[in-house]
Amino acid sequence: MFDFDGKTVLITGASYGLGDAFARAFAAAGASLVLTARTTELLEAVATSCREVGATVTAEPGDVTVEDDVRRVVARGIEEHGAIDVLVNNAGIADLRGLAAEVYDTETFEQVIQVDLVGAFRYAREVGYHMLERGSGSIVNICSIMASGGNDLNIPAYAAAKGGLLTLTRQLGVEWADRGVRVNSVSPGFIVTEMTRAPLEMMGMTSYIASRTPMRRVGEVHEIVAPVLFLASDLASYITGVDLLVDGGTNASRGYAQVMPIHYEWNKDTAPRVPGWYEGLTPRPAWLQALEAGIPGLHYPMPDA
Ligand code: NAP
Repeated sequence: MFDFDGKTVLITGASYGLGDAFARAFAAAGASLVLTARTTELLEAVATSCREVGATVTAEPGDVTVEDDVRRVVARGIEEHGAIDVLVNNAGIADLRGLAAEVYDTETFEQVIQVDLVGAFRYAREVGYHMLERGSGSIVNICSIMASGGNDLNIPAYAAAKGGLLTLTRQLGVEWADRGVRVNSVSPGFIVTEMTRAPLEMMGMTSYIASRTPMRRVGEVHEIVAPVLFLASDLASYITGVDLLVDGGTNASRGYAQVMPIHYEWNKDTAPRVPGWYEGLTPRPAWLQALEAGIPGLHYPMPDA
């Protein structure tokens, strides 16, 4: 479906998790790769599997919080591949201790911001400079559903970092729009990776997340891969500054999709009728009359019966 033949894709956080899957997918689509993360052995293992399907791969370890590392990775990528056509800003950390904002420590807050926001900015700036010089390129930032609203999971630093990255995506998308460089983001819902495996699989959070996701399940890694390839590709040539939510409908529901939806109860014959709310309200609005009448088909005939 996607053709990245002749293109070079730089992926951060490529040693495991989503970054590993992105690397394999771009390799399968014909891309050359520049892969980076801190864990050398795991990074090499991903590079090896990508080479096995024919990709030319540069694996250069580095930390997104270290300026010199970022410059070195980008410089080596350009030197070995001639150009970088796509950047996937994927490296990220989350703090899943469940520490409430009022007692949250500054050190962790800054650490998460450094990796998830400033790290992504460093790569966008270094690769973006090179792309602007060439007049072409596509950047995909991996954001999160946590970027576009508050939540009850006690992750203030992560939410702030991803929210910042979402706005940075729009800002760079606009700043670079007329110079051939597109900048978009993909915001996944919950996906089982090393980042989330402990709470999702070991602490039983999967069913809780599924219960508040309209599709009633967490996402699969491959369901994040295709949207990233799409935004990175020329098929998305008129799309910039956009955040693509890949979240099973979570954001669309604005929280109003939690199991059990109230109509599950309503549709039982035991469902009570509303006992004369708002006594004295005249005239009684149609919605109140409807509630007082009960459930159509259960407490009174359907209108067309
Ligand atoms: P993961 O399994 O924990 O992988 C994170 C990747 O980032 C690893 O390759 C890690 O490699 C790298 N990384 C972490 N800190 C780094 C640093 N300082 N410098 C360089 N690389 C670093 O997480 P994931 O689930 O694949 O997450 C990938 C992205 O998707 C993140 O931005 C995350 O916030 C986002 N996301 C994930 C989910 C989800 O449910 N999984 C949902 C929404 C958004 P090293 O440790 O080897 O450096």
